[in-house]
Amino acid sequence: MDRTWQNAMKVAIRNSTELFELLNLSGDAVRTSKEGEGQFPVFVPLEFLRRMRLGDINDPLLLQVLPRPEESNVDAKFDFDPVGDAQVEKAPGLLHKYMGRVLLIVSGACGVHCRYCFRRHYPYSAAPKSIDQWLPAIEYIERDPSIHEVILSGGDPLTVVDDHLAELVERFDAIPHLTRLRIHTRMPVVIPQRVDQKLCGWLRRTRLSKWVVLHINHVQEIDENVVEAINKLRLAGATVLNQAVLLRGVNDTADKLEALCQRLVDCGVMPYYLHQLDRVAGATHFETDRVLGLKIMEELATRLPGYAVPKYVVEIAGEPSKSMIQLP
Ligand SMILES: *Cc1c(COP(=O)(O)O)cnc(C)c1O
Ligand code: SF4
Repeated sequence: MDRTWQNAMKVAIRNSTELFELLNLSGDAVRTSKEGEGQFPVFVPLEFLRRMRLGDINDPLLLQVLPRPEESNVDAKFDFDPVGDAQVEKAPGLLHKYMGRVLLIVSGACGVHCRYCFRRHYPYSAAPKSIDQWLPAIEYIERDPSIHEVILSGGDPLTVVDDHLAELVERFDAIPHLTRLRIHTRMPVVIPQRVDQKLCGWLRRTRLSKWVVLHINHVQEIDENVVEAINKLRLAGATVLNQAVLLRGVNDTADKLEALCQRLVDCGVMPYYLHQLDRVAGATHFETDRVLGLKIMEELATRLPGYAVPKYVVEIAGEPSKSMIQLP
């Protein structure tokens, strides 16, 4: 894999026609919604495409990125800001929703476009992208000694170049009450060469304790390049966790999630959260019933060591933390 990560972004697939051609898909199976594609364009790196099965319209990786006619389904329970982010923005790109930790949106771009994503409607063009634009957020953090952890998020924070990230993290290093840096990213999964020397350099240098939360939904996403990327992050001193989203047709069985969790812990990654889908407009077809989700969780608890079982949670606007899902 000689391509740089920046080149991988440049040559990524940007429409479903190309996706179908490269996957040898044609005929009746190929029905997509150009409307959905217009709202949220297709974006799939070749590195991720390579892990999909040729000729299989139900491939679990393809299902995550392929626009479907169902994206136009209207359901009043699925809206545009399901998690109430607009209410908690304290400075441009800075969300302070939970005690002790803030989430900084450092980029609107992602290394892949996931059709179920609750951020598909976020007004990203306004997201700050350089130190100047991050200053109000940095100043907010400096002023509030109750904040101990900064979560770099997006979009995907690792779509930002390392020089800018290194500068930002240096600013955090200088704030005495900060002790932890967390990075929520899918880049090491979709474009594994993103975890390069430059990234590992600034990561290793920070005095903050380092937590990287990956986003992998299906075991087939983990190939040898992803394993290598994970190893590099761990060698740079990061503890690596994973969050998955429970997605109908992709990972909504105990067998599939067991396979994912087994593989994750074998790679030294702890399953952290299994998210119930956020009810975002355009994603109705991915929703999985909570009763089924709970049955799967019960099954996982019997099959896996305790540390390999994720917490099954949902985000409810206005709550002081993510909420554990329980029987009603
Ligand atoms: C999910 C989230 C966090 C992190 O929550 P944890 O339970 O600590 O993983 C922080 N801030 C915001 C705005 C979030 O949405
Ligand atoms: S924010 Fe994460 S889940 Fe959403 S589109 Fe980007 S990579 Fe996918």
